Amino acid sequence: MTDKIALVTGANKGIGFEIVRQLGERGITAVIGARDELRGKEAARELGRPHVQLDVTDPDSVAAAARWIETEYGRLDILVNNAGVTVAPPLGLPSATTTGTLRRIYETNVFGVVTVTNAMLPLLRRSPAARIVNQSSELASMTRVMTEDSPLWPLNNMPYNSSKAALNMITVTYAKELWGTPAKVNACDPGYCVTDINNGMGYITAAEGARIAVRLATLDADGPTAQFFGNEGPLPW
Ligand code: NAP
Repeated sequence: MTDKIALVTGANKGIGFEIVRQLGERGITAVIGARDELRGKEAARELGRPHVQLDVTDPDSVAAAARWIETEYGRLDILVNNAGVTVAPPLGLPSATTTGTLRRIYETNVFGVVTVTNAMLPLLRRSPAARIVNQSSELASMTRVMTEDSPLWPLNNMPYNSSKAALNMITVTYAKELWGTPAKVNACDPGYCVTDINNGMGYITAAEGARIAVRLATLDADGPTAQFFGNEGPLPW
């Protein structure tokens, strides 16, 4: 084992579950963040990893998780903000989107990331080389969604796409605040994975999708910060 400690939000299933598994294979102590205690326990049993109850939309639960990590480990080296939600089409069409829907998606995909990151930053600042990875989407890329012959063109999901675009800017702002320190903050797109978020419609497995987050979570000192990557390399904003 290395002595690195990681926290992955939304890790009781899907891509987050696989990120925990792959970080564990690298000898990292990866903690499963799960909003549902029972689902977290089941994932912990399956992976043989620790878990902590953490609902990214509930600041009390996030603060309690930070206290638990401090008590157990004293610091945090890796934070993967992976928890995410979407709305099924056609509800994401701009004209069909209510502000209530927009708020619900932003609570998890945007505000939740800020709540968790700010709660964990004091612990991350104790790491000699903190890594923050934000699980974004290619659908956040204005360049990609505006390419007319791209398969992304029809996926005009305003709450989801705009939440992930906000997340990309949030990634850059944290990276800038931590500029000049050993910490690195990047965003990634896992690719279109077979998970519950898309009712199993993806092309690749969650394990394949987990790889880019794991790569960014384990970057060397000369690795990038404030960038956006897919499995094939850098993505345009
Ligand atoms: P998933 O299987 O639906 O998993 C989503 C995870 O997020 C679940 O563990 C879920 O917990 C958790 N979650 C949702 N709301 C939460 C909250 N308020 N607090 C804590 N955890 C919460 O979907 P996935 O595909 O693995 O998605 C993981 C991330 O990848 C998301 O950010 C998604 O936007 C992104 N992504 C996925 C794809 C894809 O093709 N699958 C592509 C691009 C980006 P519960 O089990 O309790 O619901």
